[in-house]
Amino acid sequence: SITVVAIDGPSASGKGSVAQRVAKHLGYGYLDSGALYRIVAHAAQQQNVSWQDAEALAALARGLHIEFHGEDVLVNGQDVGDAIRSEAMGKGASEVAVHGPLRAALLDVQHDFRQAPGLVADGRDMATVVFPDAAIKIFLTAAVEIRAERRYKQLLAKGAAADLSTILEDLKARDARDQQRAAAPLVQAEDAVLLDTSAIDLEQSVAQAIEIVAN
Ligand code: C5P
Repeated sequence: SITVVAIDGPSASGKGSVAQRVAKHLGYGYLDSGALYRIVAHAAQQQNVSWQDAEALAALARGLHIEFHGEDVLVNGQDVGDAIRSEAMGKGASEVAVHGPLRAALLDVQHDFRQAPGLVADGRDMATVVFPDAAIKIFLTAAVEIRAERRYKQLLAKGAAADLSTILEDLKARDARDQQRAAAPLVQAEDAVLLDTSAIDLEQSVAQAIEIVAN
């Protein structure tokens, strides 16, 4: 049988880093579901499909062949790994993600990532919608001010321009859009364990997540 570990949480909560490390520790596969929404936003832009056109986005998604190889993301043979990581595609992802028909089209894609002995799936609706039978469910979050500060420091470390108050406002807007949409809103599943990383670092977050999986 295949063990699924579902890790959900808001933007910049660090769940991507935690999920990848937990997957590596367990020898499980890893699904970055946010990348799928970013891929759709990017492909739509390339093909002149509107981010508002739910049915066209769903049809487009069904025609995409997606492969992850480490940091490389191949979509119909083209590497879009860097392109989908932009702020613009993060915003695009959160805009296309409001559409129920697109979310439905991506269900099979996500289920196909299940592999023995297990999968760590990272996103917003892993525990609630995509893998409701997941053996382990973690809701990973941190105070929005802390998440903004972490992203700010990441950008500075990369030598990028960054403004803390703009990042904070952007994160609040992203949270609101993810939590208030009708289709699969971001919410902690009833049977999920809350992991608040506001006061702990990445290593401690990974250790706590591994402990939750083990228990
Ligand atoms: O996690 P990431 O920042 O890459 O996700 C980008 C956007 O995709 C999120 O802001 C959210 O709106 C959407 N998303 C989603 N469901 C998921 C993963 C991401 O709606 N499972």
